Amino acid sequence: MSSVHELNFLKEKIQELKDQGVYRKLPVLEGPNEAEVILNGKKVINLSSNNYLGFANHPRLKKAAIAAVEKYGAGAGAVRTIIGNMDIHEELEEILAKFKREEAAMVFQSGFNCNAGTIQAITGKGDLIVSDELNHASIIDGTRLSRADKAIFKHSDMDHLEKVLKENRDKYENILIITDGVFSMDGDIAKLPEIVELAEKYEAMTYVDDAHGSGVLGESGRGTVDHFNLHGRVDFSIGTLSKAIGVVGGYVAGSNTMQEWLNHRGRPILFSTSLPPAAVGAIIEAIKMLMESTEYTDRLWDNAKYFKQKLGKLGFDTGNSQTPITPVIIGDEAKTMEFSRKLFENGVFVSGIVFPTVPKGTGRVRCMVTAGHTKEQLDRAVDIFEKVGKEMNILK
Ligand SMILES: *Cc1c(COP(=O)(O)O)cnc(C)c1O
Repeated sequence: MSSVHELNFLKEKIQELKDQGVYRKLPVLEGPNEAEVILNGKKVINLSSNNYLGFANHPRLKKAAIAAVEKYGAGAGAVRTIIGNMDIHEELEEILAKFKREEAAMVFQSGFNCNAGTIQAITGKGDLIVSDELNHASIIDGTRLSRADKAIFKHSDMDHLEKVLKENRDKYENILIITDGVFSMDGDIAKLPEIVELAEKYEAMTYVDDAHGSGVLGESGRGTVDHFNLHGRVDFSIGTLSKAIGVVGGYVAGSNTMQEWLNHRGRPILFSTSLPPAAVGAIIEAIKMLMESTEYTDRLWDNAKYFKQKLGKLGFDTGNSQTPITPVIIGDEAKTMEFSRKLFENGVFVSGIVFPTVPKGTGRVRCMVTAGHTKEQLDRAVDIFEKVGKEMNILK
């Protein structure tokens, strides 16, 4: 047998990961994603999911998923441009457009491929993409797939953004400014009103990836654009259906023109099978629930404030988050990972996030509070934070 099949070049790289102490195995979850879970065989309070509203295992979503399977089957059977566009896919886009208060929506199979497919479809040679330095990996990949040039502005630095726009306006045909709506590592919100002002001043288009804003910010989770009441002034408003909505998928909300174009040139629409009926049925139900009441988003914010306040009172540094994302900043990388490990041993799962995902010396555990947590669970989690924090001399 040829030695080429041994993949020695990968074995060497894997060994390097082990030497650097960054090799890991995937944690295994037994059962649904809920406030309390069995992870790697241990019962823990889950402070690490993006299941903001507790929809991932909600009875109404499950029922809708099963009903969709009974009516439409397990799979869509083709890409949308051939025969994989079922009436429920159309229904989903109609309800999403209505929910987002935009003309139209175009649904993709994930938030990741929504960014990868959309950015390359709407930009090309002779254009410039202007991107916040902390934007998500899928935006970076979408930008790489585009033939446009790229410029990065310092995180939420409006003076720097204006400088980039001023210097480049005359050199390019179209300019597209891209930002996350909510930044996932710190929980801060993009300065969207200022970005839109600058975009209009320099005749640039705007693109907001609201993966962590969808289902969280705005009226009943309509997102960052709704939060700032900027309807009609953001050209491409991206949401995920996999985080707060609890299922899987992504979409762009915006104009009919956007929708018409992506129908023809969004490569994941043309070359990848559409979302399965179960997912579509469950998502439609989730959007209906949000349109019926603010109960879920209210509970999410209430829990987040409660938890943040308690941690702050104990003396933890919870950073500058403006959303339910609650970082607890430890600083040192090794200490952060040890804190996370000890929290797990004591019954709380919260993942450690260190360099290179965040700057050196700003290691943190990132707590994701959800509407699904009870106050009792949050209290227990806070007690465990206090115990471990004292043991490790993080708290005095
Ligand atoms: C999670 C995330 C995505 C990817 O969404 P998926 O639906 O999980 O593929 C895209 N952008 C941002 C900012 C995200 O946080």
